[in-house]
Amino acid sequence: MSILVYIEHAEGKVKKTSLEAVSFAKELSAKTREGEVIAVALGTVDSGELASVGKAGAAKVLHASDSRLNDGVIQAHAAAVAQAFKSVGAKTLVLAKSSLGDAVAARLAIKLNAGLVSNVIELPNTDNGYVVKRSIYTGKAFAETKVTTENKILAVKKNAVDLKTDGANASVEAFSVNLSDSDFASKITSTERATGEILLPEADIVVSGGRGMKGPENWGMIENLAKVLGAATGCSKPVSDIGWRPHHEHVGQTGVKVAPSLYVAVGISGAIQHLAGVNSSKCIVVINKDPEAPFFKAADYGIVGDAFEVLPKLTEALKAE
Ligand code: FAD
Repeated sequence: MSILVYIEHAEGKVKKTSLEAVSFAKELSAKTREGEVIAVALGTVDSGELASVGKAGAAKVLHASDSRLNDGVIQAHAAAVAQAFKSVGAKTLVLAKSSLGDAVAARLAIKLNAGLVSNVIELPNTDNGYVVKRSIYTGKAFAETKVTTENKILAVKKNAVDLKTDGANASVEAFSVNLSDSDFASKITSTERATGEILLPEADIVVSGGRGMKGPENWGMIENLAKVLGAATGCSKPVSDIGWRPHHEHVGQTGVKVAPSLYVAVGISGAIQHLAGVNSSKCIVVINKDPEAPFFKAADYGIVGDAFEVLPKLTEALKAE
């Protein structure tokens, strides 16, 4: 027996969220005695990079290197992971909660006749059945879901588990999958991406600006701080509605939901719709000239001050570090 983990990678690197899923699976196997953790990776990725998945807790990585599996072809990924699941005799599949993960997991739930729980934040409670705690309503509440099927799929929420990195390298084995033309019936033909930009949904640090930045001509200050921190840039909804920033940067209930280790909000009031997109952040820093701004209630650290004075000083101080 073993637990299978579906690994996502981008630009030659295994995603941190997938490594968190591996660490989660390792702890799960210690609790449920489901044997070793085996990861499955699809498409082109360096075997040294895959071996490092062992540090997070995987004993072995199955690698289906067929280049047609690049670019996240959902049906083909679901077919390949289902084959890996059966070949290793797993009863549990763990993966990271993500857009690709959601699409693949839903198809796998059908293929494997498995109960699927998404946004998992803790190891299941197995005292009375198999009860999984998950985050709902953009992190404002929790739900407990009882899984009654033999096969189970758990999609782990970003930042919900501690990533372990003290294991040994995993062995990497070629994995051959049987895929038909229908598995590639739809595919992504092009993706747009500004070079060098850190993707907002996956960023570990985000610097966001709101209407308090007064205009797009002042965004250089947000970008400079983001550059020093290695962060992605985001914004509030009105900022993208007015056209100061592109829509894909809009954070919140109706925009991108982020869960970075650090979220820096500059000149954003902290309306409930904005908070809905950021309240899974590990640490929130708010810079606002109004001490009564609601965002301060959700902040771990707050700076009451004019962004036009604070940002240049903060950026210079961080550069000097
Ligand atoms: P403002 O509310 O105008 O706040 C600007 C802030 O900047 C103020 O707190 C002010 O004190 C501060 N400030 C001004 N000058 C300075 C300065 N020099 N230095 C420092 N601080 C300064 N909003 C989202 O962001 N995301 C969403 O997904 C979203 N979805 C919505 C969905 C619905 C259905 C609705 C009705 C609204 C939604 N909104 C969303 C809008 C939301 O309600 C707020 O209107 C919006 O978030 C406010 O944006 P803001 O904080 O940038 O602007």
